[in-house]
Amino acid sequence: VKYVYSFGGGKAEGNGKMKDVLGGKGAGLAEMTNVGLPVPPGFTIQTEACREYMKGGKTSTAVQKEMLAALKQLEELRGKKLGAPSDPLLVSVRSGAKFSMPGMMDTILNLGLNDQSVKGLAERSHNERFAYDSYRRLIQMFGNVVLDIEKSEFEEVFDGKKHQRKVKLDTDLTAKDLQEVIEGYKKLVKKHTKRDFPQDAVEQLSMARDAVFRSWNNDRAKHYRRMNNIDDAIGTAVNVQSMVFGNLGDTSGTGVGFTRNPATGAKEFYGEFLMNAQGEDVVSGIRTPVPIIGLQEIMPHVYEQLRAITTKMENHYRDMQDFEFTIEDGQLFMLQTRNGKRTGRAAVRVAIQMVEEGLISKEDAVMRVEAIQLNDFLVPSLEEKGVKIEVLSKGLPASPGAAVGQIVFSADEAVAKVQKDKAAQVILVRGETTPEDIHGMEVAAGILTSRGGMTSHAAVVTRGMGKCCVAGAGEIEVDEKKREMRVKGKVLKAGDWISLDGISGRVINGKLNTNPARTDDPELMKFMSWAEPFRKMGVRANADIPRDAKQAAAFGAEGIGLCRTEHMFFAEDRIGHMREMILADNEKDRRAALKKLLPMQRSDFAGLFTALDGYPITIRTIDPPLHEFLPKREDLMVQIAQLEITKPKSPKLKELRHLLSRVEQLHEQNPMLGHRGCRLGITYPEITEMQARAIFEAAVQVTKKGIKAKPEVMIPLTTSLKEMKNQADIVRRVAAEVFEEKGVKVEYMVGTMIELPRAAVVADEIAKEAEFFSFGTNDLTQTTFGFSRDDVGKILPTYFELGILKQDPFAQLDQEGVGQLVKMACEKGRSTRPKLKLGICGEHGGDPSSVEFCARVGLNYVSCSPFRVLIARLAAAQAGL
Ligand code: ADP
Ligand code: MG
Ligand code: MG
Repeated sequence: VKYVYSFGGGKAEGNGKMKDVLGGKGAGLAEMTNVGLPVPPGFTIQTEACREYMKGGKTSTAVQKEMLAALKQLEELRGKKLGAPSDPLLVSVRSGAKFSMPGMMDTILNLGLNDQSVKGLAERSHNERFAYDSYRRLIQMFGNVVLDIEKSEFEEVFDGKKHQRKVKLDTDLTAKDLQEVIEGYKKLVKKHTKRDFPQDAVEQLSMARDAVFRSWNNDRAKHYRRMNNIDDAIGTAVNVQSMVFGNLGDTSGTGVGFTRNPATGAKEFYGEFLMNAQGEDVVSGIRTPVPIIGLQEIMPHVYEQLRAITTKMENHYRDMQDFEFTIEDGQLFMLQTRNGKRTGRAAVRVAIQMVEEGLISKEDAVMRVEAIQLNDFLVPSLEEKGVKIEVLSKGLPASPGAAVGQIVFSADEAVAKVQKDKAAQVILVRGETTPEDIHGMEVAAGILTSRGGMTSHAAVVTRGMGKCCVAGAGEIEVDEKKREMRVKGKVLKAGDWISLDGISGRVINGKLNTNPARTDDPELMKFMSWAEPFRKMGVRANADIPRDAKQAAAFGAEGIGLCRTEHMFFAEDRIGHMREMILADNEKDRRAALKKLLPMQRSDFAGLFTALDGYPITIRTIDPPLHEFLPKREDLMVQIAQLEITKPKSPKLKELRHLLSRVEQLHEQNPMLGHRGCRLGITYPEITEMQARAIFEAAVQVTKKGIKAKPEVMIPLTTSLKEMKNQADIVRRVAAEVFEEKGVKVEYMVGTMIELPRAAVVADEIAKEAEFFSFGTNDLTQTTFGFSRDDVGKILPTYFELGILKQDPFAQLDQEGVGQLVKMACEKGRSTRPKLKLGICGEHGGDPSSVEFCARVGLNYVSCSPFRVLIARLAAAQAGL
């Protein structure tokens, strides 16, 4: 293996395609070098070295040797030696994995400085202050990243000095002050590591490299990978690059930017910078940076050069770029470029514009938007009509949508609140967020920060999450210690309600209502019209009532893949009849109760057929265990006890006692594996009969009005041909009866849900009777893993931690296990019935990676919740490309 790839002097050993090997950053640096852009030279230690480090716990001599050779080459190119006493070469040591993980891993700047070379740097730059500032930054970063010393300990020393000198800004400290800070830092290092800060530059380099390897497995990086579905095994590359200095004085600076607006997608040059600053100063939110247009005034030629370079990069990569640059004494250097993260709205707009500009094809455009990002079009907006609005402040509209919630001031507090109450809505309010806040950001409804710009951590991360964020609301004073925020003479405490508008950046006092999204956004419609022709698989929705069905159709659903009839029984006016039916201890009484339910179900079905005129509707016969329709045993016992005291003669008491005894009779140890699904319809055939009658009478009724009803009757929880036949016979018999009675015929199908492993195994048998299969992947996951889906939450965190599971199998179809059952059932089913219609109706139908899997195994359609329909449509189109 070749471990180290050099770049510099106009050519690089690697190139932009080698992200697996060089990481995104390394590939970008190589590519930029190759196209002749001003990139400080250096080399990339490839990801394989990281993987070996993770396995063996140390870096091999082969890697070390190649690194030293590359260093030598770099020293020759620059005519300087790393850590030399006069005019030293300094380098940065930068992490960079295949997928960008902003701020999750570590970077060390100014490496190679020591007590001697700092003097050489001072002399050479004629700038003592700069040299000592660089040295103290090195010790601070190295101390934190390599030696594991808390950042706050360094900050204490630094702030102590500022306090002592009575100055506000970092830049107000003199060279002498900084030398004293350095002494303080070194004492810290000695205290924690029992040895001096390493003076040998090559030792610094080796230690830093290994620390970057280790940072691949820090908690926040692991968490980020899990959230973004990135493989833990791929590792990071390490980039060693000559330093250029943005902190040399007023003709130096550093900045970041985008070739288009990452929030809206508008074609405008977009970015922020700070003069006399280094590295993270811009993105960390420590100082609020200046909009990039300001550079045009300060250094017009640098601004023009930057525009020209970034435009060239955008055309080269044919995608919006996110770039980092540094100006050293009037000279521009590019430090990074990558395809910029953007909101879903921006992704759609940029894709459309790039097609119109002739940069990319429609196929490219369709692939450019991650399906899940379409969620952005579904985000709510604040309801402002008829309410008085008190705007507390205006920040930057960093990530769109609206968020309403109670203020919390720390990530832990956010997590605690949501753990206590799943429905809690919290807004995380911080001066600035850091990668350590990631768990809190994940559970928060929205994020508000008082510092930092459009490229700050909070802004970048929330855009990735599709979560509303207002950043850099500078008038707001956030006091995390006191747990309050102050603005315009007002004090808001933890627990107070605020509302955020991620489109305008307004922070509004109190709890506003939100409006659902519009589905007719013209850009979204245009984009979807480009995607649709590539889609080969159908998309349906899971809906039980006409309102949801209409919503789903508005999102483009082509029918209903799952209508759960039992939901219809929970309604106020029906639950009584339902209970009567359950309480009946003989068939006659049961039929009497069912007779009352019949017209109700019939009108429900008529409503659905009318709402989805012409589209198929899969109607599942009753599924849950009957006791779900009865009151809880404990509640009944309390009621009885109370009545026994207050009205011992009441006839109600007798009724309740009867109910209690029936509840106790129906009690099951494992209701999810109990008397449910087709087992109900088999033991009480009159239930299936009534439901079939309701379906077909409704179908006939609407057909007479000119509406096209396409019922697909689905039998749940079958495990064998005999079960299937038992129920299918009833359905077909009733259908024939109804058609005969009414003199009208309606096309229909009878099929089954495949949701138990046995059903998948004998699918060829079941398909003799079933005209379609729909995979109920929630139950199938539950029964294949033997995980109770209601309790698995207790186990998952440990399983993730230990790497036993990568993803929650209830959110993302487990392709290796459950998916194999699905695949087998498809093949077996079609071996008996080649035209067998196949679909999926579990939660997974709306998850893009699961949709892709469904397309691969040849399903005819996926069915998902109405709000996932758009996402499933795009995912299916992408699978078809
Ligand atoms: P991240 O992946 O967290 O963005 P980077 O490796 O890009 O980390 O480094 C962070 C910042 O450090 C960069 O934006 C840049 O400003 C600064 N930096 C990195 N390398 C150099 C260098 N060789 N010269 C000057 N600044 C650098
Ligand atoms: Mg960077
Ligand atoms: Mg089920």
